[in-house]
Amino acid sequence: MPSRDWHPKGHVNVSFREKGGDWPPHCIQDTDGAAFHPGLNLPAHAVIVTKGVRFDQDQNSALDQALDQTGFAEYLNREGIKRLWIGGLALDVCVLATRDAGIETLVILEGTKPVTPQGGKAAIEKMKQNRAAILS
Ligand SMILES: [Zn+2]
Repeated sequence: MPSRDWHPKGHVNVSFREKGGDWPPHCIQDTDGAAFHPGLNLPAHAVIVTKGVRFDQDQNSALDQALDQTGFAEYLNREGIKRLWIGGLALDVCVLATRDAGIETLVILEGTKPVTPQGGKAAIEKMKQNRAAILS
């Protein structure tokens, strides 16, 4: 089940540099930058979890229960899903933010990249402290 950033045009949150944040504009809705990699073979019935759609706040995790934006954690609980295999970008931001919501998390190290090597090392340590399994 893939998740994606799907920021609206005019995203006013503080994540983009033009608004004082750390990141260049990225994953703007309906642009090539928001598309999944063409090599990713998604089944036709795949459910795509979309995050980062609000104008006023950012959202790093598809399991963001504090903001209750995606409903993904509720979906997993309802379906009895107890384990997530996680990859994607970036290891030290969105992957790290995907926290345990009563669900076992397994991070596929080769399936993710950090923004910086130092950030990646720190993220791995934090995830180990939070019981996430790191697979390589
Ligand atoms: Zn984003």
